[in-house]
Amino acid sequence: MGKTIIISNRLPIQLQIHNGSITAIPSVGGLATGMKSVHSGGDSLWIGWSGLTDEEIPEELVGDIDAALAKHGSSKVNLSQQEVDGFYYGFSNRTVWPLFHYFLEYAEFEIDSWETYKKVNQKFADAIVEKAADDDTIWVHDYQLMLVPQMVREKLPNISIGFFLHIPFPSFEIFRTLPWRKEVLEGLLGSDLIGFHTYDYERHFLSSVRRILGLDVSFNDVYLEDRIIKVDSFPMGIDYKKFSEAAKVHNQLPPEKQSELQQRLNNHKQSTPDAKFLLSIDRLDYTKGIAKRLNAFEYFLTKYPQYKEKVRLIILAVPSRSNVPQYQLLKREVDELVGRINGEFSTVSWTPIWYFYRSMPFENLIDLYTSCDIAWLTPIRDGMNLVAKEYVATRTDKTGVLILSEMAGAANEMNESLLINPNNFEQIADTIHQAIEMPIEEQQERNDILQKRLERYNVERWAKDFMSSLKEQKDNSSSYV
Ligand code: UDP
Repeated sequence: MGKTIIISNRLPIQLQIHNGSITAIPSVGGLATGMKSVHSGGDSLWIGWSGLTDEEIPEELVGDIDAALAKHGSSKVNLSQQEVDGFYYGFSNRTVWPLFHYFLEYAEFEIDSWETYKKVNQKFADAIVEKAADDDTIWVHDYQLMLVPQMVREKLPNISIGFFLHIPFPSFEIFRTLPWRKEVLEGLLGSDLIGFHTYDYERHFLSSVRRILGLDVSFNDVYLEDRIIKVDSFPMGIDYKKFSEAAKVHNQLPPEKQSELQQRLNNHKQSTPDAKFLLSIDRLDYTKGIAKRLNAFEYFLTKYPQYKEKVRLIILAVPSRSNVPQYQLLKREVDELVGRINGEFSTVSWTPIWYFYRSMPFENLIDLYTSCDIAWLTPIRDGMNLVAKEYVATRTDKTGVLILSEMAGAANEMNESLLINPNNFEQIADTIHQAIEMPIEEQQERNDILQKRLERYNVERWAKDFMSSLKEQKDNSSSYV
């Protein structure tokens, strides 16, 4: 059994340069947690970009950085500013991201960005080949690295390669508009196993493979001359225990130990005991439907005026990709909408929307999840949406209502939540009304089922399922030739 090599655009490590010395802090995101079972001990390696461009790394620190990363079982791919611009901000975020989320009108098809994307994917592939042996297992992550599987396969034909896409795969009619659609599919088909969050994304991918490449597809297998590629769905879970345990600890804190945010939330609850908190948390991204949600909230207050002064919407919008023009425009739009709606509806004792434009530490996320009666998440398209799962996991007494867009991958596994179409304001307003009035017993019944499912299919299980499916596929495929 060889080692496992994980590849993602960013390493799960924050590098900080301070006074000529370097510190490497492991980041605690969902992917890093899920990979713990895969990426532990001395038999695995994580390859990715460090987050610092070549220009930002002083030459005398290169050795120290490599040593600091090696301590965390990681190795970096070096990228210049120009490469990051073309590959990450360019092709990944201005072409693939909008296209795969059905925002065709935002997708830019720039040959230069595509060329840089290819070049950088080759860099990642070379970094893998340099470290890999034939009996190793490679797991490539996400839309920034779709050409890597084929590039590695060319050099190491017998190695086991898995690929997981963390965003949606669009329907053929959308995907076909990409000028480099063939190259992207061929890149992915260098894998032995290709994983998606949902069965729909899997189906869309297989249909593109059949119609664009004319390959034989049977059930979820793609047949090449010398290999079979398996395509399957693996819905990513969360670190359930981390969220449920944190909520338990949080709920037992004496008031003086609570955070400032929690104390403010408590004050408002005490001053208006029958008022409800609605929560929405997302990166400020056009796929998340934040502007639409604000308009829908305005519509709700107009349709159900009895809830004026009785409902407060807390919006946490996390800054994201702020050097891409659409994100700057969205920021302005959301700022204006919040201002307008608050101006229109506020009273002396009530501001309908609390708006935070920042990222919050874990502790404050738990404050928000545990204090809000309703989580209201309405992405227009979302590969999965982990916030929906995290909210449910923190509801230790099983109260709370989740209103979730049916366009989020998570909706497939969260049927007990209230599913809505993010474009249907009538339905949204009625659903908020339903959520506010939902009896506690019904909330608990729904959350009980959801929690059991989330606990069972946690992120560790997701990683294990993927890895064992990859192993099985490799074993089967070897006997095919
Ligand atoms: N999150 C965070 N800090 C914040 C707000 C959110 O770390 O201030 C986390 C949140 O806990 C969740 C992730 O960001 O794990 C968002 O994941 P999701 O799948 O919902 O959306 P994505 O941003 O990946 O599209």
